[in-house]
Amino acid sequence: MRVDWTKAQIIEYAKKHLPWIAQKTNMNWNGIVPDIKIMTNKELAKEAQGEGCFMAFCPQEQSLWMQLDEVNSLNWFKSAIIHELVHYLQYQNGKGAKPRDGLIALMQNEEEAYNTQACFLWEKMGIDPSEHNLSEKGIKIGILLSTMGATGMMKENA
Ligand SMILES: [Zn+2]
Repeated sequence: MRVDWTKAQIIEYAKKHLPWIAQKTNMNWNGIVPDIKIMTNKELAKEAQGEGCFMAFCPQEQSLWMQLDEVNSLNWFKSAIIHELVHYLQYQNGKGAKPRDGLIALMQNEEEAYNTQACFLWEKMGIDPSEHNLSEKGIKIGILLSTMGATGMMKENA
């Protein structure tokens, strides 16, 4: 499905939920919302170097990249924004892993992001996170990240 959110709506959504994320993860938020880049499916796949990737956090740019054309569901889309914002805070708080830090460091970042996403689905939306196989996705993403090149992107698959 296509999500008809504007960039302003996404920024508003991020601003609304960052305090909750910071509290859940015990991290600090400096009040700044990351830059949001909306692109096409193809552009994102090329930029994030991952086919089927629909959202990504770019630590170098401190920006959240996303496409709105092919999204599983609105709930999943919203929870994925939460996931990416966890990565944003990880880098802000000096615990964001770089590829050279290795798989364990990357997986620790993913674990926290997926746990917070699962918590969000359950607490805020009343959705059982096991419906989305979050832990399985975490492992897949971790393997993907370990094999990626120099971009250091945190990529998510729907
Ligand atoms: Zn992630």
